[in-house]
Amino acid sequence: MQLPLPAHIQSEAIINAINPAKDVDGFHPQNVGRLAIQSAEHYSVPCTPAGVMHLLDEYGATYAGKNAVVVGRSKIVGLPVSLLLLARNATVTICHSKTADLAGVCRQADILVAAVGRAKMIKGDWVKPGAYVVDVGINEPWLENPHDEEYTCVKSGENFVGHHADQSEKRSRRLVGYVQGATNIAYAKNHAPADLDLQPDYAKIFRKYEIVGDVDFASAEKQAGYITPVPGGVGPMTIAKLLENTLFAAKAS
Ligand code: NDP
Repeated sequence: MQLPLPAHIQSEAIINAINPAKDVDGFHPQNVGRLAIQSAEHYSVPCTPAGVMHLLDEYGATYAGKNAVVVGRSKIVGLPVSLLLLARNATVTICHSKTADLAGVCRQADILVAAVGRAKMIKGDWVKPGAYVVDVGINEPWLENPHDEEYTCVKSGENFVGHHADQSEKRSRRLVGYVQGATNIAYAKNHAPADLDLQPDYAKIFRKYEIVGDVDFASAEKQAGYITPVPGGVGPMTIAKLLENTLFAAKAS
């Protein structure tokens, strides 16, 4: 099941209806319970937390005697990753929106996991020198600069023609509106390809946004020993772990 569900659907009832042996997200209460008690049975560990641990292991993190701070306590990320760190004998602090002196708590962290959903909230001076910083957050703030708006002229009723952007550029622009008869400026602004068939009709307006994590990477990387990028850090690990869980469940069925 793809979460989140629309508000009028009770996701708990649907999660409960999933066969725990095929619960590749690890969200069924039986599997959450197995994680909490560190069951010896095989079960699916939630994908993002499992990916976080895999990354930490891969880059040589040790846990016993270390302070691990997890910012966020969601069922999907914060809570399960805290349980996994605890199982490795880290001393775990779980922070959330009511935590006092969040910066001070983060500064104690040998391992800092950010799963908040607030763009660039965790600054470099919150990071203990040499710490492992794992940024789970995926946030999409609009770029402030008005010149980041782009206009793409299209024929009325025609699909988006686009300009020759590479895949990453395409992903970082989003349709926010239309302007009637705004062709020339649009053409100039958009570096339209020569073969674009412009019509004095309307323009689609795009705004650029960026994908950033919960950690202010530029300042935090100066302090951290290791730090994951966003995008490209935890996200691909989540996908890999989902495939791993799926493969195991398939083989076991
Ligand atoms: P939730 O919104 O479910 O949880 C956010 C947590 O952050 C809550 O525990 C909340 O506290 C806490 N929080 C919010 N604001 C603050 C604050 N100002 N100070 C301290 N704590 C705060 O989010 P998720 O856990 O689902 O996701 C977190 C982020 O990770 C999102 O950006 C999401 O997109 C991303 N994500 C990335 C994945 C990946 O594969 N890379 C997978 C899943 C999520 P409280 O409980 O008190 O409300």
